[in-house]
Amino acid sequence: MSHARNTEAMQASLRCGAQTRLGEPCRAPALRGKMRCRMHGGAWGSGAPDGNSNAVKHGYFTREAVEERRFVRSILAEAESLLSRLPDANCNTRKNGTQLNAGTEQPSSHLTYDRK
Ligand SMILES: [Zn+2]
Repeated sequence: MSHARNTEAMQASLRCGAQTRLGEPCRAPALRGKMRCRMHGGAWGSGAPDGNSNAVKHGYFTREAVEERRFVRSILAEAESLLSRLPDANCNTRKNGTQLNAGTEQPSSHLTYDRK
């Protein structure tokens, strides 16, 4: 008892078409929403992400961003060197006993730094 199977829908499905090692087009059905079969790059997770998020430009290395980080580092280094030159914060007198006159010293150069 045999009967003819209705394979019309299966035959009508999109085929992969990738070139095989025999030089012929692959006849496996392409995956849903893809142009290739599971063996020729149609598998889930293969290929570039949608919207090509690998190529997103985040701006971390733009000239302005690099310049800004360099500026912040210079400020921090200047502040650190200034703090190292200051007397102990808990003591209002210098080593030689003179009183520390707050506000009479010239402002540090970072306060007047003009970026552009
Ligand atoms: Zn294929």
